[in-house]
Amino acid sequence: MKIPEIFAENVFNDEAMRSRLPKETYKAMRHTIDEGTPLEPHVAMVVANAMKDWAIEKGATHYTHWFQPMTGVTAEKHDSFLSVKEEGRIIMEFSGKELIKGEPDASSFPSGGLRATFEARGYTAWDPTSYAFIKDNTLCIPTAFCSYSGLALDKKTPLLRSMEALNKQALRILRLFGNTEVRRVSATVGPEQEYFLIDKELYEKREDLKLTGRTLFGARPPKGQELEDHYFGTLKPRVAAFMRELDEELWKLGIYAKTEHNEVAPAQHELAPVFTSANIAADHNQITMELMRKIASKHNLACLLHEKPFAGVNGSGKHNNWSLSTDTGVNLLEPGNSPYENAQFLLFFTAVIKAVDEYQDLLRVSVASAGNDFRLGANEAPPAIISMYIGEELGAIIEAIDKGVNPAAKERRVMKLGVDSLPDFPMDSTDRNRTSPLAFTGNKFEFRMLGSSFSVSCANYIMNTAVADELMQFADALENAPDFMKALNDLVAKTIREHKRIIFNGNNYSVAWVKEAERRGLLNLASADEALPYFKKQKNKDLFARHGVLSETEVESRTDILLENYCKSVLIEAACMSDMAMKEIYPAVAEYASRLANAVMAKRAVSSLLSTESEEAVLAKLSAFADEIKRRSDELVSLSAKAQGEEDHEKLAHFCREKILPCMEKLRAAADGAETLTAKKDWPFPTYSDLLFSV
Ligand code: ADP
Ligand code: MG
Repeated sequence: MKIPEIFAENVFNDEAMRSRLPKETYKAMRHTIDEGTPLEPHVAMVVANAMKDWAIEKGATHYTHWFQPMTGVTAEKHDSFLSVKEEGRIIMEFSGKELIKGEPDASSFPSGGLRATFEARGYTAWDPTSYAFIKDNTLCIPTAFCSYSGLALDKKTPLLRSMEALNKQALRILRLFGNTEVRRVSATVGPEQEYFLIDKELYEKREDLKLTGRTLFGARPPKGQELEDHYFGTLKPRVAAFMRELDEELWKLGIYAKTEHNEVAPAQHELAPVFTSANIAADHNQITMELMRKIASKHNLACLLHEKPFAGVNGSGKHNNWSLSTDTGVNLLEPGNSPYENAQFLLFFTAVIKAVDEYQDLLRVSVASAGNDFRLGANEAPPAIISMYIGEELGAIIEAIDKGVNPAAKERRVMKLGVDSLPDFPMDSTDRNRTSPLAFTGNKFEFRMLGSSFSVSCANYIMNTAVADELMQFADALENAPDFMKALNDLVAKTIREHKRIIFNGNNYSVAWVKEAERRGLLNLASADEALPYFKKQKNKDLFARHGVLSETEVESRTDILLENYCKSVLIEAACMSDMAMKEIYPAVAEYASRLANAVMAKRAVSSLLSTESEEAVLAKLSAFADEIKRRSDELVSLSAKAQGEEDHEKLAHFCREKILPCMEKLRAAADGAETLTAKKDWPFPTYSDLLFSV
């Protein structure tokens, strides 16, 4: 297979447009993509027609507006190109109007009260910055999803708005440095995706995996990840075949799948694409997750995207690599070659520091979910406290600026900044600290707290908006400064002084850090139900409103949807647990226990001298576990019934965490205890050993 030949063959990209659109139309289209100007109806008509012809040649019969409602998965409603001209005669048609706007019946998508049910029709609007593509014989048109009154109901709209805000403010800064060339600054994103692959037949035998995406029961296997022999190990043939097909399908869709390897836990893997603009990266990551599931199934595998499918085994995250890039190809977070460029770098860099410190709560919100709670703070993932790692060299510089001294003398490779009080600069800082939630890795920030099943939208529109806000303040302060370089120096020094508490280069997993972070006044929001309400703090509403990213109402509704999602996933898990406990586990334990009891009686019938000690001991323990299973299962059922009555999602979320989750833990402990004593052939579903070492 030749990659360049198949790459993007199913994408209506620039090349396809250039070859299929009349010159004028192409130019207008390019203008829309690059500058965000609206497309004239007559131009849209020509584009739609060309798109349709292209899609039909590729075998497509249908089209869909492809969008990302707040459910967290993508949605599509297929229409065929078919149009009836007269009795018995059809033509294939696709109009400009159909390209630009769709009206899916949206009443069942979550809106957090934004859209009264009578206003059932939301609408989808074409996002021309993300290319249309063909999937399953359907032309997919990436779209934003809004209510009739224009309120955002999806994950894409705020991301697009935040990119506009960031572009606007970053350009102001670049102009201050005399740069008149750059026309657009975009956030770039490269999300590394972790996932598990297990045998599909085993997966099918577990109700918990099918309904909730994770195992709710399962005793520790004799072998876990202790040996770390899986990390970067050779790929098993089935996994290799899966990855090969996945890569190929992703490439056809123009997705830059690049790195595939085994991860730390058994059965765990990772895929990293080459980075691209945030909006496209978000779309591509959604398609990637969808294809992972689909292609796994073709190979008789099940792909698990849950953050913590197996207790006691590393969970899966998504590392969101983020930077700023100009349309002239310059990475603004890359230390430069001249004093001027370095001053500019430092300004963008300190803007990020300030943004992360001031909006710690929002970044925490962006990674909060029931699933991710099992991962954050556990040993393999960053803790719930937001801090930044910037490496030793850069750290020394920041410290020197803070103290007003120049550390240059002892540095190795340094560059002159030309301004006395701005110190010299290291060429790169490649130090790594795998424990940091947000690490500067030389020319980008790596945010490691996202869960594997997340859309990257939220984390990125928060990062974009917060940084845009800081850049706005910087530009306001610098635009009218009489002495630019002096003002810049002062601003950088002041910002560092005020926000350096967010920088931590040590071990984030240590107990000492939790104490230290508390002393510094950093937030430690241990669980999603505690974190999510921070979304709607007034300062955060103001931030989003200032940049036109989300209105107050939109923030309120989003907070409510996220809290409701949290409650729903806990309640579904609780229901699934008591179901499995009473219908599968309890009967199995009872069955084995009765065999043991029979064995005791049989022995006694033969001779009173025969020992029944072990049978009786196991029987006693199993009976105790069975009682506990029944008790906790009943308790779960009644707690869930109580939860039904609570309509306030914030209160319900607290109830779920404080009451339901602990009860689930107790039920699990009893069931897992029983599993270790019950005969393997009696156990009703595949064990951890079966699942983790099945492929
Ligand atoms: P590691 O596992 O060491 O973090 P990887 O190579 O697996 O490194 O992943 C790095 C990710 O960062 C890739 O997806 C890469 O495309 C992305 N990346 C690199 N440069 C940038 C950038 N300027 N902006 C955004 N993402 C970037
Ligand atoms: Mg990484």
